[in-house]
Amino acid sequence: MVTPLDEKIAILQDQVKKLQSQKDSLIKELDEVEERAEEKDRLYNKYFPVIIDMVAQDEDSSFSRACKEISTGLKKRTSLTKMTYVFEQLKTAMIKEDIGPVSLNKKKSIFSSFKKSPTDRFIEEFKQDYHDLINGLRSCLEDTYTPALDKAAASIINLSDTGDIPGIRDQIFNLLFSYISDTNQDREKVSLFVLEIADKIFQIESKLIISHEQTDSMYKSGQGFESVLQDEMGELKKTSDIATSLEELKSQITARLASIDQALLKKQKTEKVIQMAARKNMDAFKSGFVKLKKELDQATRHSRELEKKVQQDQLTGAFNRRAYDRKILEEMERFKRYGTVYSLLLIDADRFKNINDRYGHAIGDRCLKEIIKRSLPLIRTNDMLARYGGEEFVVIMPETESEGARVAAEKIRKTIEKIEFLYKNEKVSVTVSIGISQANPEDQNHLQVFERADIAVYKAKENGRNQVVVY
Ligand code: GH3
Ligand code: MG
Ligand code: MG
Repeated sequence: MVTPLDEKIAILQDQVKKLQSQKDSLIKELDEVEERAEEKDRLYNKYFPVIIDMVAQDEDSSFSRACKEISTGLKKRTSLTKMTYVFEQLKTAMIKEDIGPVSLNKKKSIFSSFKKSPTDRFIEEFKQDYHDLINGLRSCLEDTYTPALDKAAASIINLSDTGDIPGIRDQIFNLLFSYISDTNQDREKVSLFVLEIADKIFQIESKLIISHEQTDSMYKSGQGFESVLQDEMGELKKTSDIATSLEELKSQITARLASIDQALLKKQKTEKVIQMAARKNMDAFKSGFVKLKKELDQATRHSRELEKKVQQDQLTGAFNRRAYDRKILEEMERFKRYGTVYSLLLIDADRFKNINDRYGHAIGDRCLKEIIKRSLPLIRTNDMLARYGGEEFVVIMPETESEGARVAAEKIRKTIEKIEFLYKNEKVSVTVSIGISQANPEDQNHLQVFERADIAVYKAKENGRNQVVVY
């Protein structure tokens, strides 16, 4: 009688038999494969080096060098990994040197786009952008900068590596530095111009360096990872096809996964290094940019100070005649164009000759300084108080009619009247006469407004001084 146990044993025995026959056929197959491989190996090692040597000839090219390495590798039975690497090099050399089917396909766009690595494309784009920039500078800068521009242009043409970029950027920055220090006028325009150039450089570099260098290397590291992934997946597939037990399959899978893990880790590490390099480059650029900006700010400040000095009266610190002449032209122009009236105050110190004669020039000078110091807080920020000459001052009051000007002038007169200096226990005081005129549509130019203010001052003097007269 057949028990269920007997039945189970029979099934198991049957399975064992099947597995054994599977194993036998696998071993047989393996023997055959090994035999074939050995045969192939023998043939390759015998004939291949001879052919390769012939192909390589004595040329000095990467292709020849790779061929020679293959030949020696085959003769010395170098490891498979090393041989794979040498073959890869041969492939790269063939692509680079247009050898074999590659050159036939060259004109087909797919190949030509693969031929150039992203870095090459990046460098070419970079060169183009920088070249445009140099040409732009040529049309803006004087001939004295031509040698420096030529030098920068030559460096751009010779550029072959992304590592050369900071050098080129520094050349242009140095050129800008000397431009800043050479140019003493129109500082505002210079700052705008320099900032524009720096911004352009910034754009070129951030656009290219960050995106291309990163994608280039990431692309490479990604490729490495993908090939590992593909290899391991292929191996895994093969393994699962021939694995004889679950245990074996499991251990194979674990091993493959570990290998994939490692490749992934390597990829992540490479990417981190690239990111850091890109960041460093960016930081270097930024610090260069900051230096440039600092230099510019300093130059701008310096030129503002110069500008201010040029417009300032040395004794009183008020605006000088030159500043007045400039501003009054603008004001008259504005009045003619938009009808915005302005008033002019002419302030003349009374009997100033007497002050000088009695107390000396030092006291006279102090009086003039004091007149300015006390008057300044009484006028608006838009008004301009200037020393017209000697003991005469003018105030331009934009958008002010003569009545408003009169109120302000009266305040000035009263304030100055109260000034008291001590000279050897004697009180020294000073008064002013102020004439006012308002621009009117019949005026041909600003001089006519001044003439009327002058007449008004004359009237004030005639009437006894220390008073305000509106023309
Ligand atoms: P008036 O009231 O008619 O204006 O009398 P005045 O003496 O002020 O008129 P005048 O134009 O004859 O003389 C101006 C004087 O101002 C002559 C000069 O001694 C003095 N003065 C001009 N510039 C300066 C200066 O920079 N410092 C000093 N201390 N005095 C000056
Ligand atoms: Mg005078
Ligand atoms: Mg005077």
